[in-house]
Amino acid sequence: MDCLFCEIASGAIPSYKVYEDERALAFLDINPLAKGHTLVIPKMHGGTILDLPEDEVTHLFRAVQKTTARVKEIIKPDGFTLGVNHEIGQAVPHLHVHIIPRWHGDSGINIHDIVRAGSDTSVEEVAQLFG
Ligand code: AMP
Ligand code: ZN
Repeated sequence: MDCLFCEIASGAIPSYKVYEDERALAFLDINPLAKGHTLVIPKMHGGTILDLPEDEVTHLFRAVQKTTARVKEIIKPDGFTLGVNHEIGQAVPHLHVHIIPRWHGDSGINIHDIVRAGSDTSVEEVAQLFG
């Protein structure tokens, strides 16, 4: 398959490994947004969390937890922003979770500032859609 992150998962393309187990791999982002910026991927190909079996997603998020602990131990940031570009803004169509170390005063924004579209439907009306 012609997928960059499948090739990284198989080792065909090299990466700087941060964490690995039988179903997930974490490696340093080649174009880091901050020191220690790391990506965590499932070894199984899937574009988004909706394209993978449930246990693969469960395992991926366990790997995210372990990787975050590892990055915290080595890089010692003040905190993190964790995120997924899920179709929108997603350059590589193989699911990956960004672990971005953050520092007080690093001029980064928080998740509330990523999307400012607002909603023209009240929360109560949206809640009714879910039944
Ligand atoms: P996204 O926009 O969420 O799809 O992010 C894709 C990320 O993959 C970007 O942050 C890139 O810097 C990163 N990236 C692309 N190619 C590589 C590579 N060969 N090794 C590590 N990271 C990569
Ligand atoms: Zn892939």
